[in-house]
Amino acid sequence: MDLKRMIRVIPDFPQPGISFKDITTVLKDPDGLRFTVQEMARRFRDRGVDLIVGVESRGFLIGAPLAYELGTGFVLVRKPGKLPAATLRVEYEKEYGTDALEIHRDAVQPGQRVLLVDDLLATGGTIAAAARLVEELGGVIAGFAFMIELAGLKGRDRLGDREILSLVRYD
Ligand code: 5GP
Repeated sequence: MDLKRMIRVIPDFPQPGISFKDITTVLKDPDGLRFTVQEMARRFRDRGVDLIVGVESRGFLIGAPLAYELGTGFVLVRKPGKLPAATLRVEYEKEYGTDALEIHRDAVQPGQRVLLVDDLLATGGTIAAAARLVEELGGVIAGFAFMIELAGLKGRDRLGDREILSLVRYD
């Protein structure tokens, strides 16, 4: 399946010079959504994954059906102030300033094998921050899954020697 053909590229969004990869056109296509989830499930089915962690918000859209497909639970990593119970927070560097992510403190049990999911890997700052949250709770990173990787930004170099799946790459 040619997933790349289904991704809509929007020039100069949200700022001039950025070529935004719009995945809504993949999600609304029944074959695109099914292929995305099934390819990720195929790679990680035998890797002893106990839990999927998805990053707000597009990571939820892929991570939740993937958890259903793999028969695991799903945990949300969210922007600050959104999760209602006790949270753990991590701050990370963005291109301009810092940002933060949170996870519920009781969301991951020590020793659980966690697959982290987001729609897109760019610099890797977001998913590396999510991985830190999981590890601080005692979770073990089983791997990372993305629909898209912007390979030129070398985000995978920040993720260590761990299993990384991306279904579509741009240089
Ligand atoms: P990073 O932290 O790896 O630099 O950026 C990845 C995060 O930014 C992801 O959570 C992703 O959703 C978002 N992101 C950055 N650029 C794009 C893009 O072109 N398309 C989409 N769909 N998300 C993007």
